Amino acid sequence: MAHLTNKPSAAEAAVAAHYGLLLGIQTPWQVVRADLKLQEKKVEIAVEHDRAGQVACPQCGRACPRYDHTAERQWRHLDVMQFTTIIRARVPRCQCPEHGVVTAATPWAEPSGRFTVFFEAFAVNVIEASRSLTQAAELLRVDWHTIQEIVHRAVERGLLRRQTDRVDQVGLDEKSFGRGQNYVSLMTDLPGRRVLDVVEGRDTASALRLWQTLPEDQRKKVTAVAIDMSDAFAGATRQAAPQAVIVYDKFHVSKYLNEAVDKVRREEHRKLLQQGDASLTSTKYLWLQGASPEGDRALSFSELCARNLKTARAWVHKETFSEFWAQPSVAAGRKFFSQWFPAARRSKLEPIKKVAATLKAHLTGLLNYFLHPITNALTEGFNSKVQAIKADARGFRRFANYRARILFHCGKLDLSPDLRLNPTH
Ligand SMILES: [Zn+2]
Repeated sequence: MAHLTNKPSAAEAAVAAHYGLLLGIQTPWQVVRADLKLQEKKVEIAVEHDRAGQVACPQCGRACPRYDHTAERQWRHLDVMQFTTIIRARVPRCQCPEHGVVTAATPWAEPSGRFTVFFEAFAVNVIEASRSLTQAAELLRVDWHTIQEIVHRAVERGLLRRQTDRVDQVGLDEKSFGRGQNYVSLMTDLPGRRVLDVVEGRDTASALRLWQTLPEDQRKKVTAVAIDMSDAFAGATRQAAPQAVIVYDKFHVSKYLNEAVDKVRREEHRKLLQQGDASLTSTKYLWLQGASPEGDRALSFSELCARNLKTARAWVHKETFSEFWAQPSVAAGRKFFSQWFPAARRSKLEPIKKVAATLKAHLTGLLNYFLHPITNALTEGFNSKVQAIKADARGFRRFANYRARILFHCGKLDLSPDLRLNPTH
């Protein structure tokens, strides 16, 4: 295809018409030329707005007199036969009596986009399916920052379209972020199984900002919230959504109990080793999970329990407490706790005694589980996804990128550009 200056040949006109159909370009727009650049593996498609006609105002649709043209812009479209396909056009501006001088809409792209809506929709699908942004960048043959921009635009679109008017049970949870001791806090819609928002930090101010991302009328309709036993989340909830019932997350409780058992084990293991007794070697996960691969342990689990080790006693307190969650009512839960607690306090196992005191101080929120059986298992479940997002570490210096990617992958947002922008589709 020769580069044209004036009149296209019949063959060239046919090629231009073919691209017009392919791209769904219609009056008042027209494909006037398609330049195939073999060396660059590229097709450049020149599109023109009807030179004589009026221009529709993008805001009111009124046909208005033409004002001028913008400089030539270009948009990347879906590749055709592995050729990078570029649309080039000068976009007319019109003088609308109501809206002033405005740039006409381009049916193939969003107002400020550098890609056609089809390319952008395809890119969103590729990013969703990719293991990392780097992989998506390679597949789409764009640079990494462009991918990040596509993610941000997709999330913006999704947040604008998102409905939150039925959010009534939420979870607040923290995650580590970046290197070192940085944290983010997340709010999740528990029945909707989606992340609602992410903010930096994990103190009361962070949790308040998280609550404020929910529209105020919606905040008032939240009936219950699952949180850990830190004061930050409870304090912020009492301020921002005082009507919401606080339910302490059972996974955090079992984490505290597991840590206490492990503390007892480490201490006892150290003492036993000094006496030449290696019974507790390789047993860490045995006490945490109640089962583990055989490994090179000296004794079976029942043999260990029979030795009346401190670790075994700590383990019994932890295991017994797991039955708390199976109680049928608040009254039954309270009764169960009144039996578990004194035994734990008398255990002479400092870590266990300490957790028992913490649980007692938070008893109301623990018993609320029987009124609203909610947990943050959902955020725990997001862990593998969030870890994958973190593992692709580039650009994570910026919190905004991290937030966008969590919302992109875990927000259940409607991310694609509106393909109806294009009149033929
Ligand atoms: Zn107008």
